[in-house]
Amino acid sequence: MAITAQESTGTVTFTIDGREVTAPEGSTIWQAAKAAGIDIPVLCHDERFDPVGVCRMCVVDTGAPAFAAACVRACEDGMTVKTDTPEVERSRAMLTRLLLSDQPPRERDPKQTTTADNELLKLADRYGVSATDSGQAGAAGLPCGSGRGVDLSSPVIAVDHDACILCDRCVRACDDVQGNDVIGRSGKGYGTHIAFDLSDPMGNSSCVSCGECVAACPTGALTNKPIHDIPIRPRAELDAVDTVCPYCGVGCALTYYVDRDRGAIAYAEGREQPGSHARLCVKGRYGWDYAASPQRLTVPLIRREDSYPKGALSADVRGDMAADGEDSAHGLDDPDTPKSPKDKRKGGKRGRKPGGLVDYAEVLPHFREATWEEALDLVARRLSEIYLKGGPAAIAGFGSAKCSNEEAYLFQKLIRTGFHTNNVDHCTRLCHASSVAALFEGIGSGAVSTTYGDVINAEVAIVTGSNSTANHPVASSFFKQARRNGTTVIYVDPRADKMADHADIYCQLKPGTDVAFYNGVMHEIIRLGLTDDDYIRTRTSNFEALKRTVADYPPERAEQITGVPANTITRVAQAWGGAKAGIMFWGMGISQHTTGTDNARCLIAMCAITGNVGKPGAGLHPLRGQNNVQGASDMGLIPMYYPNYQGSGDPAVKAKFEQAWGVTDLDPKEGLTTTEIIASALAGGVRGMYMLGENPFLSDPNINKVRKALAKLDFLVVQDIFLTETAEFADVILPASSYLEKDGTYTNTDRRVQLGRKVLDTPGQARVDWEVVQDIANRIGLGWHYESPRQIFEELVSVMPSYKNLTYDNLGLSGKLYPNPDPEHSDGTVVMFGERFNTKDGLAHLVPAEWLPASELPDEQYPYVLNTGRMLEHWHTGSMTRRSYALDAIAPKAQVFIHPDDAAELGLDDGDLARVSSRRGVIELAAKVSHREARGNCFIPFHFREAAANLLTTDAMDPIGKIPEYKFCAVRIEKADG
Ligand code: SF4
Ligand code: SF4
Repeated sequence: MAITAQESTGTVTFTIDGREVTAPEGSTIWQAAKAAGIDIPVLCHDERFDPVGVCRMCVVDTGAPAFAAACVRACEDGMTVKTDTPEVERSRAMLTRLLLSDQPPRERDPKQTTTADNELLKLADRYGVSATDSGQAGAAGLPCGSGRGVDLSSPVIAVDHDACILCDRCVRACDDVQGNDVIGRSGKGYGTHIAFDLSDPMGNSSCVSCGECVAACPTGALTNKPIHDIPIRPRAELDAVDTVCPYCGVGCALTYYVDRDRGAIAYAEGREQPGSHARLCVKGRYGWDYAASPQRLTVPLIRREDSYPKGALSADVRGDMAADGEDSAHGLDDPDTPKSPKDKRKGGKRGRKPGGLVDYAEVLPHFREATWEEALDLVARRLSEIYLKGGPAAIAGFGSAKCSNEEAYLFQKLIRTGFHTNNVDHCTRLCHASSVAALFEGIGSGAVSTTYGDVINAEVAIVTGSNSTANHPVASSFFKQARRNGTTVIYVDPRADKMADHADIYCQLKPGTDVAFYNGVMHEIIRLGLTDDDYIRTRTSNFEALKRTVADYPPERAEQITGVPANTITRVAQAWGGAKAGIMFWGMGISQHTTGTDNARCLIAMCAITGNVGKPGAGLHPLRGQNNVQGASDMGLIPMYYPNYQGSGDPAVKAKFEQAWGVTDLDPKEGLTTTEIIASALAGGVRGMYMLGENPFLSDPNINKVRKALAKLDFLVVQDIFLTETAEFADVILPASSYLEKDGTYTNTDRRVQLGRKVLDTPGQARVDWEVVQDIANRIGLGWHYESPRQIFEELVSVMPSYKNLTYDNLGLSGKLYPNPDPEHSDGTVVMFGERFNTKDGLAHLVPAEWLPASELPDEQYPYVLNTGRMLEHWHTGSMTRRSYALDAIAPKAQVFIHPDDAAELGLDDGDLARVSSRRGVIELAAKVSHREARGNCFIPFHFREAAANLLTTDAMDPIGKIPEYKFCAVRIEKADG
């Protein structure tokens, strides 16, 4: 890390260019000069990295016989520094000329996108060196850069080794910032070059395409390739829009550079913000072109009369087999599923097209284009009719964690005030519902107690049930960086994800044994006297009950259940219990179990009995999945809470919202969750649904059941940007806006509320979502008059105490963490619960949990355990990422990851077609032999509709969080015929 002012203990005073300057002790001359407004040019230096002083561009005269490199030379009291003498400037000019002479000719530009930012060319301008001087070495018969050549093997990054000046900025960006450790140096003397892994082509290396090296390169040796081969204009001709990444809950700040003449984004760059510090992963940097897909929905659609009775419209979603007469290879071809008349006319002709998207040619003919007026009238009329006939229980809404806070707020308000039901939910049910349940019970708040960046202050960090390098890549870069800074990282997960490579202790526990593991660790913490007794006495309740429960989990018993050696369990207890500050990060490997709430209860107890909540470097952090799942939950897009987690079953809360919203008839009882709504639809309870941006056909467990439920609905309106699998069951499809096409706020995993800004126009007749929700509200008589997201935000803040002091104006470019103590506060609250918890008595309630096995254990028929989750390059049901050129090119196909010994036993090699079946369905997909799996387990990402993992998963649920057990079901694996 660069030397920072915080590390200094005093100050030094010295002279720069005749000015007296005082700087923190330990500052470099370059830092002090910058603080004083004096520019010293650099090439190898970047403030985000440790200085190395190799390029000598920043030399200054300190009176010593040789010039000093300002980026590494520390200031000293009384020293005299001259930064711009003729000799110093001559030295820099000469260096620039030498470097430029070895650059490839400009015409050999391997599709650069950042030419305008080529820092070497800027220096050439500054020192009057002609750009035509580049390639002089080549002109003289010498190969430029020793003829190291160009590497275009990566789908997203072009490497021109000859333009490399060996400044090592990319090495430090890759290794020190992102912690990916891909780039190093290879070769000797003039042949020295940057190398990916063992001098592999970049596209074949372990590179994860985060693009951090591109952002760091000062010469154009590493550049972004244009997406879709569209030529990139110089940056000065592009429009810069500061916004936030649309993918995961890390919420990285970025800037899109937009070519207004083409109406398209040219490229994205990370932007400084207190959380993400300008870092991005592959999705944020390269995954934005989905919005420009020709498959965007651009006009309202109404199902044609002859496409009733309803059923799935495509062979894929019906689950047809490749040939007539065979059993369903996909377990989908259910005789109970209604077929549309056209399907019947086709005589059930089968034909499963390869590929990962809904076949528009097959599905769109079942719909006709409509005007917005006609479509919205129909939606309002049909939902009203269903409500009048069946009452509140007949209506339900699924909102989306991809939508903004304003949209989530309006959507739940529409369902609650328009249809008088709390049957409104979203995908939070499927990711952290059990964590939130345990957190509310334990500490009275479902949000994180501290930020992911606070890991830098932790002595120990536990990352558990989280493939964070894939799911929260930028957050994981902070975990890796903290470890290099001295934090002990403990990784606990059945899969040896890349985080295991960066852990001091890795515990590969058996799936579904988390409670036994953490009870074992707590047993040892208590036995070894490592509890914080004062904290337990003053800040917690129920410790004795916890102590009695964990007494039954000595490490030897925990080892029997979990497979983690007893002495490793003790080591974890020693590390955690002995740390001054310990921080706990967890993901869906904890929450997506039938014991998800119990798992989270254990993590809360682990932190509480060691005093690890409410101080820097300590706390509880469930890593939230979607970009706005925290915000959508805050907004009350959940059946048991109004905005700000005010209980929907509480009469006082109901009265409060009736007054705030000017209504008298809100639903007095809690509504149904997503999985319960699907079950209700199947049973004929819920008859009409409004689906805003959700695709439960792929995201919910046990797809066969979901298909039947969707087909049974009397009316379904789907508002989305693409024709999703769920839309095949719709009566009306409304073309929506992508994230890039609207203003709004989004709340990330840290509780950081940020402004997302409009980057592009909506295509065709597609409309901004909050306006569509308002139009439906007004058609059912709600009389709304919102004019902007800002106005909606002001209303939601008025009913949400935790969002107090947040305004569109004070969110600025970095957003703010809630709670925000006052409107002028610089960044909001990082560490919560310093004095008391949000529970009524202010204490953390410790809830002991006994280990229970998963709902469906392996047996002879289904001997493997299936774990499902995400890949780095893809997102949820793939509707965005599979339409992104870069992401689809890097990860184009579904795979089942299997341990090498299991693969050998099954006769499977890499790429062989495997057939994976459970009691609920069958899929076929490529085998991927992987050392990251444990024997007896397999992993399937759930993004791929052609091999939908959720055909296999069980819909058994955690009884409290109502979250399905996505992380555990029994499957059989065989070699398919191919
Ligand atoms: S793209 Fe990222 S992972 Fe790949 S070499 Fe560059 S910094 Fe390293
Ligand atoms: S880590 Fe998440 S928010 Fe950041 S760039 Fe990647 S997907 Fe986007």
